[in-house]
Amino acid sequence: MTKCSICNNKIAELFLEKIKGTIIRKPGSSKQYPVCFECQKKFPGKEEMLKKI
Ligand SMILES: [Zn+2]
Repeated sequence: MTKCSICNNKIAELFLEKIKGTIIRKPGSSKQYPVCFECQKKFPGKEEMLKKI
């Protein structure tokens, strides 16, 4: 089960392991942070999302 890194809500997974949301990475790190569609809409850019993680 994938959880949003910002709001901790579960992210609905579609088939072929595609999630309803996005995956972001911090610069210089290979760790991946899933972000749900709602949070994606809430924050205008990757930088804004990374600040909330
Ligand atoms: Zn979220």
